[in-house]
Amino acid sequence: MLTAMDHRNIDEHSIADRYVSNSLAPEERAAFESHLVDCQDCTDRVLLAEMFCARQPDPLPLRAKLAARLKPWQLLMILAITVMLLVAIPAILIPVYLNLVR
Ligand SMILES: [Zn+2]
Repeated sequence: MLTAMDHRNIDEHSIADRYVSNSLAPEERAAFESHLVDCQDCTDRVLLAEMFCARQPDPLPLRAKLAARLKPWQLLMILAITVMLLVAIPAILIPVYLNLVR
């Protein structure tokens, strides 16, 4: 059991993380909260842990989220434009290149 809240203890036992995830014993929680009032370092730790926790339920990468937001016809449009560009650029450049060579 923790007798004093010092930073070695807080780091070793991931107190800030467990405080955010509500897995501290009531007396540890009380001890940490009374330490938190005076300690900017630990306030920062808790804010950081909260930010990290808030991001947890959203495991999708940005590209997957974008793709999920696009409708199927929008995806088809993007694909069609990409194919057109891939075909159109050589179709324009090859005659130009051939004219230059001649
Ligand atoms: Zn502290």
